[in-house]
Amino acid sequence: MNLVLFGPPGAGKGTQAQRVCARYRLKHLSTGDAIRSAIREETKIGRLVAELVEHGELVPDDMVTGIVEEFVARNRSQTDSFLFDGYPRTLPQIEQLDSLLEAHRLTPAVVVSLEVPDDDLVRRVTGRRICSECRRVFNIHALDRQAIASCEICHGSPPLIQRKDDTVETLSERLRIYHAQTEPVLHQYEMAGKLATIDGTGDPDEVFERLCGILSEQY
Ligand code: AMP
Repeated sequence: MNLVLFGPPGAGKGTQAQRVCARYRLKHLSTGDAIRSAIREETKIGRLVAELVEHGELVPDDMVTGIVEEFVARNRSQTDSFLFDGYPRTLPQIEQLDSLLEAHRLTPAVVVSLEVPDDDLVRRVTGRRICSECRRVFNIHALDRQAIASCEICHGSPPLIQRKDDTVETLSERLRIYHAQTEPVLHQYEMAGKLATIDGTGDPDEVFERLCGILSEQY
């Protein structure tokens, strides 16, 4: 099975993707994580896109698809099941993904969208903190006050940091782009009869059970 996990920033795609990959043995690609690591490592693409990402803009289609292609090619011999998290995000990326799956003789993707209202997303995204060491994601609203500054899991309690694009200002731009450019992707999948939507609010365990309810129909 190949899965596209869809949802606005802060919908919980990363958390759910990790669980789904563990249960269904899918290889996880988060284009956002891949792009952030290119920026940290100051690769050629990383340097080109750093400013766009910081302002909440989308990276050009060909560059993102290049990253996806490279990832699939590198992992294809070990797996035929991928989870795409944060991709496709524009109409041209739908076609690029379809061609890529076909070129690698992979089955068409199942598409699941996590639905969360914008008001909840603001609280989730602005409260998000990431361990500077292991990149695990925490939320300050779920932590007690003493634990906010550092990772409770890593040795040496490294500091938790905030993504540069997780501020209120940048989030509103990311949501504007999501509604303008990424929602049409959803509509296209919906018209093709490929889309399943689930309620992404509430406890992550409950969301995971809803997600598994959909995915178990695919097996
Ligand atoms: P995310 O972690 O999924 O919220 O992505 C963070 C940022 O990476 C986005 O705001 C975009 O700048 C960039 N990005 C991630 N995936 C894509 C994509 N499929 N197309 C264009 N830009 C992307």
